[in-house]
Amino acid sequence: AETGPAAAALTPMMAQYFEIKAVNPGYLLFYRMGDFYELFFEDAEIASAALGIVLTKRGKHLGEDIGMCGVPIHAANDYLNKLIRLGHRVAICEQMEDPAEAKKRGSKSVVRRDVVRLVTPGTLTEDDHLDARSANYLAALAMVRHGDTDYALAWADISTGETFVADLAAEALADEMARIAPAELILTDATRQALSERHLFAPAWAGIASTIGAELADSELALPLLRRSFPAERFDPTILSRAARAALGALVGYVGESQKGRHAPLRPPVLDASDKVMAIDAATRQSLEILQTQRGQAKGSLRQSIDLTVTAPGARLLATRLAAPLRDADAINNRLDAVSRLVEDTLLRARLRQDLKAAPDLSRALSRLALERGGPRDLAAIGKAIGAALNLAQHLAAQPDLSPILSRLATTLGAAPRDLSAELAAALDDELPLLSRDGGFVRGGFDHKLDEERALGSQTRAVVAALQARLMDETDVRSLKIKHNGVLGYFVEVPANHGTRLLEAPHRETFIHRQTLANVMRFTTTELAELEGRIAKAQGAALEIELAIFARLREAVLADTAHLQGLADALAELDVTAALAEVSALRGYCRPQVDASLAFAISGGRHPVVELMVKAEGQSFVANDADLSGSEEIGGGGLWLVTGPNMGGKSTFLRQNALIAILAQMGCYVPADSAHIGVVDRLFSRVGASDDIAHGRSTFMVEMVETAAILNRATRQSLVVLDEIGRGTATFDGLSIAWATVEALHESTGCRALFATHFHELTSLAKTLGRVANVTMKVREWEGEVVFLHEVGPGAADRSYGIQVARLAGLPDPVLARARQVLDILEQRSAGTASSKQKASVLDDLPLFAHQPAPAPKGKDPVHEALDTVRPDELTPRQAIEALYELKKIR
Ligand code: ADP
Repeated sequence: AETGPAAAALTPMMAQYFEIKAVNPGYLLFYRMGDFYELFFEDAEIASAALGIVLTKRGKHLGEDIGMCGVPIHAANDYLNKLIRLGHRVAICEQMEDPAEAKKRGSKSVVRRDVVRLVTPGTLTEDDHLDARSANYLAALAMVRHGDTDYALAWADISTGETFVADLAAEALADEMARIAPAELILTDATRQALSERHLFAPAWAGIASTIGAELADSELALPLLRRSFPAERFDPTILSRAARAALGALVGYVGESQKGRHAPLRPPVLDASDKVMAIDAATRQSLEILQTQRGQAKGSLRQSIDLTVTAPGARLLATRLAAPLRDADAINNRLDAVSRLVEDTLLRARLRQDLKAAPDLSRALSRLALERGGPRDLAAIGKAIGAALNLAQHLAAQPDLSPILSRLATTLGAAPRDLSAELAAALDDELPLLSRDGGFVRGGFDHKLDEERALGSQTRAVVAALQARLMDETDVRSLKIKHNGVLGYFVEVPANHGTRLLEAPHRETFIHRQTLANVMRFTTTELAELEGRIAKAQGAALEIELAIFARLREAVLADTAHLQGLADALAELDVTAALAEVSALRGYCRPQVDASLAFAISGGRHPVVELMVKAEGQSFVANDADLSGSEEIGGGGLWLVTGPNMGGKSTFLRQNALIAILAQMGCYVPADSAHIGVVDRLFSRVGASDDIAHGRSTFMVEMVETAAILNRATRQSLVVLDEIGRGTATFDGLSIAWATVEALHESTGCRALFATHFHELTSLAKTLGRVANVTMKVREWEGEVVFLHEVGPGAADRSYGIQVARLAGLPDPVLARARQVLDILEQRSAGTASSKQKASVLDDLPLFAHQPAPAPKGKDPVHEALDTVRPDELTPRQAIEALYELKKIR
């Protein structure tokens, strides 16, 4: 679009700008000009609005002003961060040569520039862009149509190199996406459209989706790319399905493109088999607040309440495990064995946790080094991590009876490259700059040549001091100083009144004027310029040596990448194991018995999050049993119908049992006195479902869609936790649906289930359905007030206590009084009646809106009337108490 007549009018720089802009569509172009990244045209408008920076003009294009805004290099990272968080994607365009070079080619020529990196939410590597304790996944979704449609998802965190790929059934897409929670999803336009047509493109994905070209997601083109990207002995791309190849190819291709040729250290992909993990759909994750609360906060989530890891990689692994509890009893028990060993050995646990604290984030440092974005601190981090690993291995090796997992970790950690760590420690100074180009990071004594250059540098500085003394004598200006700044380099500075003297003979032979400021004048001399040259040379030579050392160390580290990544995994795994043991020990959790049965027997169960909150308020949490155990012989698991008033603790009880299943299957102890759990294959929780009005569906519709999902997908091994099905519609509709749902769960699914309900009619199902039992949240009534005991007991609630709860919530007294009146009439007259018509006619008999008029004027209210007669000044304490009793009688 920018060629033709208009192009003639372009300055060479603008021509270059358009050229670069054209090959990077969809990206805001950060165009490097000296100490700024400049943005032009629409980019400038978007960025200035998003960042709150000034929009200016620079020249004209086609007769219009060119909008421009700029961010200074030193603050660029912050601005970049903000733009990425707002969902923008940015292309970083650097000057590829010294401007002096360009000038040599002619006055019209522009500095060569090129895009060195594309920054998108899924391809971040810098610490200040990333949450240290969370993974940052880029996901690629691909589909291939031949006969059936096959779907596959590939995902990677390029900040750590972890890479995964999985074939997925259409209906599992949403669940997997919810589990992985990628920062960015890439897919072709065609895939996106096809998904939308099949209602498989979840609304939540729109905000993270980036479109890619079809050639990037081609299963054939992917093969050679994948062969080049991963070592043949560790990964064979031909074993992948076509869809998986396409997805993985798209992922690798996109990462490569974004890093512009730098090699992202993606690890050989792990084939992710979703049948190995407990299936938890997006709604269940939300309902149980596993990684974050329904409001999107970390605080109050299961993760936050049990995360006692001491390293960032450990925290990331803990989150991954919480999001994907296992399904295989042996694998779970293996993890529990390791946790158990550390629960019992307090001393060892404390030691390991102490040493782990000294282990930095190895994989992220490694990734930055591979991408040529790492600095001396990253090298040091790797050295320290190796040191920590060796210490940990030593502690572990000294222990008898390690569990299989702990022995494996001890072996891996013990094989850490000691020599590399020793070399890094010897080479790197204690205080390190962020960037290698700042120099000064190599320890004195490490390199002979470097020490020499540095000595030369400091000698010349002594020569500068001597020169200053001599010039002082020669000119007789006591305040003469030799100084240095970035613009002038070294210079002689004297107060302005002395300066004029130096401009005259005999001094003007020696002093060359450089600058006059308000109070001082600045000069140079031939000798000083020469000295400066020598100093710069020594510094340059020193820096060169340092950079060579850096490059050598970096090579040594990268040559060991696979080994170091394995080490990073082991450190994270040990941190998680020790952290789970710590939580289990501190909070009095118990080791669950996990097997392949249909057991679900929890005694003294608690809610891991609510327990902490209740205790923080100085109260105690009431532990409750649950037993849904069943067997194939009796047709499945048990189903408990839970009744009780609002605020009675139903949701807490329901959720705590689901959370206990998650904790047990991720390999953690559980908040209970004892627990026996037959592995749960799928977990469904619909407790406190929030309305989905934003997506145009009513509460009832959402509830029915979700109930349908459960009835269609739950198996005998599943655990279903349901709250108040059918509350969003007319009473009898709701009751019938709830009734039919319970029957279906019991008769055909046979899963273990907890079902909370307000429909007391449902409780009669316990008489006809063998594995259904009624329990209720106990309540005590005391002087007209309800007291919630939060205790689960057998039986069904006989009343709802709705009015008492409404009183607690602060509903005005007249409304409460009137409600009670209506309730009494309804209860008396409708005893035995069954149809809503009859109920309606009962209501017709009630005097319409005969509730007490709005709060009466003060004088008319009996309480106020009585109060008006009280004269506190004239009362004895005893009379005051009498008066209070009198007042209380007025009701
Ligand atoms: P419901 O679902 O019946 O309306 P909730 O489960 O939301 O009731 O519980 C209401 C409040 O009662 C909780 O926020 C918590 O503070 C308290 N609570 C619930 N269960 C317990 C318990 N077992 N022990 C102590 N407090 C509890």
